[in-house]
Amino acid sequence: SDPSVVSQLLATAHWAALAHGQQRRKSGSQPAYIQHPLHVASLLASPPSSLCPDPPLEILQAAILHDTVEDTDVTEQDLQDRFGPVVTRIVMECSDDKDLSKEARKQAQIDSAPHKSDGAKHVKLADKLSNLTDLMSPEGRPAGWSVKRIQEYFIWAKRVTDRCIDVNPGLGAQLEELYKSATFVH
Ligand code: NDP
Ligand code: ZN
Repeated sequence: SDPSVVSQLLATAHWAALAHGQQRRKSGSQPAYIQHPLHVASLLASPPSSLCPDPPLEILQAAILHDTVEDTDVTEQDLQDRFGPVVTRIVMECSDDKDLSKEARKQAQIDSAPHKSDGAKHVKLADKLSNLTDLMSPEGRPAGWSVKRIQEYFIWAKRVTDRCIDVNPGLGAQLEELYKSATFVH
C-alpha cells in the first residue's frame, strides 16, 4: 500500500495515543484507552468489514480519533488544524453533545443514526461492535456492571446500529451474531 497512507495512519495513532494520555478503559484490567480506538479502526480495515480491502484513509483516521473530543481536551479546531474537514466532520458526528443529560444523549444516538454520513455510520457500527465485544467477556466488562446494566447496553446499542447497519453488511453480520449469542437481548 501507499507508504504515505501508512505513515499518516501511524502518525494519527501516535497523536491519539498522546491525546488519551493516561486514560483507561472501564474493564477490570483497566487497559490503556487507546486500545479501543485502535480496535475500532482495525475492525473497519479487516474482513468481514465491507470497507475491506481498500478502506478510505479518512474513515480509519476518524475511527482512531473518534473519542478524542468526547473524552480528552482535544477540540474540534485542533482536529481541523491537524487532520482537515473530512476527518473532523466524522469525529464530530460521532461525539455526543455533553450539554445533554445521559438519558438524552442515548436517545440522540438513536434518533441521529440514520441521518449521519456514511463515514460516521461506519465508525458508529465499529464503535458499538468494539464495546459489545468487551461486554461479552468477563475480563472486558467494566467492573461493577450488573447483568441488567449489560442487557440495557445491548438493547440500546442494537437500537442505534439497527438504524445504520446497511452501510456495512460485513460488520452488520458480526453485530447480528453478537445480538443472537447474547440471548438476553431478545
Ligand atoms: P455508559 O453506559 O454510557 O458506558 C458505556 C460507555 O463506556 C461505552 O459506550 C464506551 O464508550 C465506554 N466504555 C469504556 N470502557 C468500556 C468497556 N470496557 N466496555 C464497554 N464500554 C466501555 O455509561 P454512563 O456512565 O455514561 O451511564 C449512562 C447510562 O447507563 C445511564 O443513562 C443509564 O441508562 C445507564 N445505567 C444503568 C445502570 C443499571 O444498573 N442498569 C446503572 C447506571 C447507569 P466509548 O465508545 O465512548 O468508549
Ligand atoms: Zn468509542
